[in-house]
Amino acid sequence: MYDFVVVGVGPAGARVARRAADAGYDVLALEKGSVGTPLACSGHVSTDVWDYVPDEAKDTLLQNRVYGANFRLGGPESRGYPFYKSTEVSNVIDRVELDRTLADAARAAGADVREGHTVVGVDEGADGVAVTARADGETLTFETRLVAGCDGPVSRVRREVGLPDPAETLHGVLAFDETPDHGDFVDVHLTVPRFFAWRIPRGSAGVEYGLAAPPGTDVTERFEALTDAYGAETTHRCSGAIPIGPPERVTGDRTFLVGDAAAQTKPFTGGGILYGMTAADHAVSAVDPADPSTLDAYERAWRDDLRREIRLGHAIRRAYSLPDPIQRLGLWALDGEIGVHMDRPSSFFSAAHLRALARGLWPGDGSDPDRSQSDS
Ligand SMILES: Cc1cc2nc3c(=O)[nH]c(=O)nc-3n(C[C@H](O)[C@H](O)[C@H](O)COP(=O)(O)OP(=O)(O)OC[C@H]3O[C@@H](n4cnc5c(N)ncnc54)[C@H](O)[C@@H]3O)c2cc1C
Repeated sequence: MYDFVVVGVGPAGARVARRAADAGYDVLALEKGSVGTPLACSGHVSTDVWDYVPDEAKDTLLQNRVYGANFRLGGPESRGYPFYKSTEVSNVIDRVELDRTLADAARAAGADVREGHTVVGVDEGADGVAVTARADGETLTFETRLVAGCDGPVSRVRREVGLPDPAETLHGVLAFDETPDHGDFVDVHLTVPRFFAWRIPRGSAGVEYGLAAPPGTDVTERFEALTDAYGAETTHRCSGAIPIGPPERVTGDRTFLVGDAAAQTKPFTGGGILYGMTAADHAVSAVDPADPSTLDAYERAWRDDLRREIRLGHAIRRAYSLPDPIQRLGLWALDGEIGVHMDRPSSFFSAAHLRALARGLWPGDGSDPDRSQSDS
C-alpha cells in the first residue's frame, strides 16, 4: 500500500511527489505520456519559480528575462501602454525542461515516477484507494491511502471520484517564430473576447505568439490574424485548455486535486504553474495519509493563501471586457513603472495604483488623457 499515488507528472504532480517523498512517504507517480510533452504552455512565470527548482537547473531553463508588458487595444501598430519595473518582473522558461527537472527532483527525493502509465480508474474505499492504470497494453492496479489528482484541466481523477468541474475552460493556442528576440517586453493585445492575445520574446528560442478565448470563439482565425499582423511565420502550433475559477470542492474521501485539475490558476492570465506548486506544498504540509479527514485542512490552506488573489484576478479579467474608451482611460491612468508581483494581483491594488486610477478618472485639468492618440 502506497501512502500517495500521484496521477499526472506536470509541475503540480512532480511537486506533490517530491515533497511527499521528502517527508518520508511512499510515493508512486504515474504519467500517461513522457514528462513535459506535449507542450501547451508559454512558460512565462514569475521569478518565484526558482524557489521550486534545483539551483543548477536555472541556466538550462531560463530563456529570457521580462521587465514589463505593452498593453494594446488593437494590433501591433496600435498604441502600447507600457507597464514595467526597473528589475525583472518575470522569466520565460523552457517548459518541457521545467517538467523534466521537477520530475527528476521527485525521483531524487525517492518517489517512484513511471511514464507511459495512463490512469483509467480510481475507486475510493473505506481503507484505501484502488488506482487502475494502463501501461504497455497491460492493466495494473495500485493500492494507496490517498490519491493526488494532478492530471491537468481535463482531469480523469476529478471525473472518477465525482468532484465538480471548474466554472470555465478557455481554449489556448500558441506557436513559434524561430527568429531570436531578446526583448524586455511582452505584448498583450486586448482584442480577444474576455481574454487576450500575446507575443513573448523567448531569447534565442525565438518568439511565441498565442491567444486564449472562451469556447466558441474563432480561435484559429484570430490567431492567424495576429501572426499576419506581425508578419510572422510560425511553426509548432499547439493548443490546450485553461481552467478558470476553482470549483467549490477539490477534495473527496481519499482524493485531492492539485494544479489545473483543481483550476488553481490566475484568472487574468490563465497561468497555473506557480499556483499549482504552491497548492502542492499546502497539500503535503496539511495532509496525513493515515488520516483522510486531514484533507479538509488542505482545502482550507490553499484557499486561505490564494482565495484573495484569485478573486482580484477575476476583477482584473473583467476589465478586459470594458468598452474601449474606458480601457484606454484606465491604461493611460495606470501605465508606467509599477511595483506589481505577477502572481499576486493584490500588489496591483496598492494605494499608489488606486490614486493613479483616480487621477485618470478625474483629471485635474479636465483634459482627455488620450486625445492625441488613436488605436488601430
Ligand atoms: C496556451 C497555454 C499557455 C499557458 N501559458 C502559461 C504560462 O505562461 N505560465 C503559466 O504559469 N501557466 C501557463 N499555462 C497554464 C499551465 O500550462 C498550467 O497551469 C500548468 O501546466 C498546470 O500544471 P499541472 O501540473 O496542474 O497540469 P499539467 O501540466 O497539465 O500536467 C498534467 C499531467 O497529467 C498527465 N495526465 C493527464 N491525464 C492522465 C491520466 N489519466 N493518467 C496519467 N497521467 C495523466 C498529463 O499527461 C500531464 O503530464 C498555459 C496554458 C495554456 C493552455
